[in-house]
Amino acid sequence: MTTRKDWDTYFLDMAYMASTRSQCSRRHVGAVLVQGKKLLGAAYNGAPMGVPDCSEAGCMLVEEYELAESGGKEQVVKKQRCIRTIHAEQNLLLFTDPKDREGSVVYVTDQPCWTCANMLANSGISEIVYHRPYPKDSDKVKALMEQKGIIFRRLEAYEPPAGTMTEVQH
Ligand SMILES: [Zn+2]
Ligand SMILES: [Zn+2]
Repeated sequence: MTTRKDWDTYFLDMAYMASTRSQCSRRHVGAVLVQGKKLLGAAYNGAPMGVPDCSEAGCMLVEEYELAESGGKEQVVKKQRCIRTIHAEQNLLLFTDPKDREGSVVYVTDQPCWTCANMLANSGISEIVYHRPYPKDSDKVKALMEQKGIIFRRLEAYEPPAGTMTEVQH
């Protein structure tokens, strides 16, 4: 006997399915737009259409310095990030209708970065549901969502469908 999936699981599964389309070897992110239990769009992180993607041209890496805590001490760590791709959330906004977004829910595999969160906050959506945390921008993103009155919640106990969680390089 199989139990029927609840809506949160169902739509987050779809976001993970979308993420498997990503060609970036560093990050696979998927997002879907849901209005009244209806799927109105799906997107993943990728290069603009018609332009070589990460699998063809390699990732476009930039180095950044971040503050990280280890053993109670703050340390500056160097991190590499791929900037070739348009983030899944931004692609979702590019390919959905503003009037479809009014009061809708975005399910996304990863907690949005600051730029995506800022754009989502201005897109008409009323709720964001995510799975994997992204500590770097978490504090300011949460504060923004609170100011905007956008419901922002993490499905902690969620488990992605088999084969959709790709091992990525960090
Ligand atoms: Zn890449
Ligand atoms: Zn982003």
